[in-house]
Amino acid sequence: MKILVINCGSSSLKYQVLEMSSDSSKVLAKGLVERIGSQNAGHTHKVGDNKYQFEKPIIDHTEAIKNVLNALIDPTMGVISSLFEIDAVGHRVAHGGDYFFKSVAVDDDVVAKIEKCCALAPLHNPANLLGIRAMAKLMPDTSQVAVFDTSFHQTMPDYAYMYALDYSFYEKYKIRRYGFHGTSHKFVAEKACKLLGMDINNSKIITCHLGNGSSITAIKNGKSIDTSMGFTPLEGVPMGTRCGNIDAGLVTFLMQNEGLDADGINSLLNKKSGLQGLSGFSSDCRDLVESMEQGNNRAALAIKKLAYDVKKYIGAYAAVMNGVDLIILTGGIGENSTPVRELICSGLDYLGVDFDFDKNTQSRGIDTLICKDGSKVKVMAVTTDEELVIATDTMNIVKNK
Ligand code: ADP
Repeated sequence: MKILVINCGSSSLKYQVLEMSSDSSKVLAKGLVERIGSQNAGHTHKVGDNKYQFEKPIIDHTEAIKNVLNALIDPTMGVISSLFEIDAVGHRVAHGGDYFFKSVAVDDDVVAKIEKCCALAPLHNPANLLGIRAMAKLMPDTSQVAVFDTSFHQTMPDYAYMYALDYSFYEKYKIRRYGFHGTSHKFVAEKACKLLGMDINNSKIITCHLGNGSSITAIKNGKSIDTSMGFTPLEGVPMGTRCGNIDAGLVTFLMQNEGLDADGINSLLNKKSGLQGLSGFSSDCRDLVESMEQGNNRAALAIKKLAYDVKKYIGAYAAVMNGVDLIILTGGIGENSTPVRELICSGLDYLGVDFDFDKNTQSRGIDTLICKDGSKVKVMAVTTDEELVIATDTMNIVKNK
């Protein structure tokens, strides 16, 4: 079965075509359309090691998807001979509010509910809808599936997802914690359990997805019971350019003292904070670790703050689950950054972690245990693959239809 996976941002579109079966998957092509809406939009299309790049005006998402479909059937760089070969399209959708507990086949009712969630994710959901609508127009007979970043976290209990605000705001605006990166947390927990021969339905797992955006999740018996991101993806640990947890009083303090309006404070907290803000020169973990090793104190501060806050979440989630069996590190930083992994996992011996410093430094970008053989609590680096989750959910929903 061939599945097209679409991940639409406000001015970009990422895609993959995967050949899927119940026990294997293969990426046939993938690519990115950037600067949608401009005269010099960029389209990068990759098939294996071959890379094709174009720059041209692309006015909207429908046009972007047309370009993608043309590339897929192109005699030189294409991977299919006709669009009829695509069995279904899976869309990443940022916010499913409290409507969706799992991935669903797209119909008018689903579109209406995603629309209702636009207020909760104003940057992402409208773009996701543009992708769904453009696809429906261009390939009306092909099934579409929506896969939500939030749905895995819908199992959180109310005392974990509520903020201690006036309850009427929950009723009026649905203000509560939703959590994100759900596809990744679920995927790495299931994958690690399979690899380790653990029963996910009888397990306590803490997953740390550490990338440009980062979140930590407590997964008890296969269900998310708490996660660090909240109403928006700003809450939690410090990220590339997002501040993570701060005293809410700082919002009004900075607005008053820096003369910022709502857009100004939003931009400051989302785009000029986190690792970028603390270091003053980069949001990229690789740059910061390199500078830290050369003695740059601000880079060291940013990295130490990230690791310290992740460690605090691990302690908190072990507490709420009454223990932990497995800690998973994933995302670009979790999969690769051995110094950050070391800072996070050293000093967790009280919890039963016997971290293996050598194994840690020797393993990057692979699924591997980074604790000693007898460690009571296992620590594992696991590579994530959100596109594969979207393609798998899409295949399963279409097959069962
Ligand atoms: P996104 O959240 O955008 O999907 P990624 O999961 O790709 O991002 O993570 C990006 C982060 O991962 C960056 O901070 C980057 O520095 C870090 N990273 C990626 N590769 C490596 C590596 N080999 N060593 C250390 N850090 C890495």
